[in-house]
Amino acid sequence: MERINVAELSKICPGGVLQNVSLAEISQWGVGGKADILIRPSTTKQVADLRSWFYRNSIHHFTIGSTSNLLFSDEGLRAPCVQLGNRLSQLTMYSNIVHVQAGVWVPSLARRLMLAGLTGGEHICGIPGTLGGLVCMNGGSQRKGIGSNVVSVESVDTTGNIFHRFASECNFSYRNSIYQANNEVITSVTLKFSPGKLSNIRQDMLAILADRSRKFPRKLPSCGSVFKSNPEMYAEIGSPGLIIEKLGFKGRRQGGAQVSLQHANFIVNTGGATASNILKLIAEISLEVKNSTGHYMEPEAFYVTPHGEKLPIDYLNNSK
Ligand SMILES: Cc1cc2nc3c(=O)[nH]c(=O)nc-3n(C[C@H](O)[C@H](O)[C@H](O)COP(=O)(O)OP(=O)(O)OC[C@H]3O[C@@H](n4cnc5c(N)ncnc54)[C@H](O)[C@@H]3O)c2cc1C
Repeated sequence: MERINVAELSKICPGGVLQNVSLAEISQWGVGGKADILIRPSTTKQVADLRSWFYRNSIHHFTIGSTSNLLFSDEGLRAPCVQLGNRLSQLTMYSNIVHVQAGVWVPSLARRLMLAGLTGGEHICGIPGTLGGLVCMNGGSQRKGIGSNVVSVESVDTTGNIFHRFASECNFSYRNSIYQANNEVITSVTLKFSPGKLSNIRQDMLAILADRSRKFPRKLPSCGSVFKSNPEMYAEIGSPGLIIEKLGFKGRRQGGAQVSLQHANFIVNTGGATASNILKLIAEISLEVKNSTGHYMEPEAFYVTPHGEKLPIDYLNNSK
């Protein structure tokens, strides 16, 4: 913390540097101690200059979008945190090609596509994240991933160099892309959709949203699905939610953390949950599923340590 010169960061990112930010207040799970420094850049150049500055000063930092897939430590974050959000959220349309900055809120992107009469983005309309996070996770719903709409991705590497990659170079696979491991920050994405009829697109989106509010807990904070679906396990026994439910975990608690009564692959914060409550509950589930079915369920969400390291959220279960 002493090594971080806040005045220099503020020169790179004017008006975008915050200190002592409560992660419980800004994170979607409503959990976490304080982040020493949170920086919200507003241009690709600022992201590149920040990364170059961190590199030259040998300071590790962590990048977040809207935190919908992350659990922060109860001790907070000593490593500086770069958040791409509404300060970096411009969108430009060229017929059916859409150029979008990474901080755009995904449900509003889906709405803009609908209003422009573009189809293919309906499945993302209920996903509460930023486009950068969605592309990094290759997120989606209805058995789809955003990767299939990607034309190219602009990103910044750890030293501050800017790259452009075509979709074929991003290795999109189920809830995965190269951006999960290469430590580059996605700053903008070019997407392609097809022309469609506004009324049909609206109808499909309303049906998706109605289905989601029937299936998923929407009122209590969570990170969405904790575990990814495992194709072998799915064919043999079923989805993670079904298996966790069959093993009797629905409603199971650790402090304020609870396996959702609505959908067992969601862990909700019923009030005052801590990161250690959630980690313990996830380790219990992960171990029990492995012991009773022989299948390992890979987690979708990540745990962020105070040093800004990203760990699989089931890391307390060391029996994998
Ligand atoms: C209620 C609920 C429902 C959900 N439903 C779905 C669903 O149906 N389908 C689905 O796929 N997901 C779902 N999610 C999970 C989540 O919304 C998505 O994975 C989302 O796209 C993550 O975006 P984010 O901005 O919140 O990323 P974060 O959670 O902030 O970050 C996730 C990961 O992406 C990285 N990252 C974030 N921004 C960038 C960037 N610009 N460049 C590089 N890396 C970046 C982070 O370092 C981290 O590793 C749900 C979550 C919730 C809370």
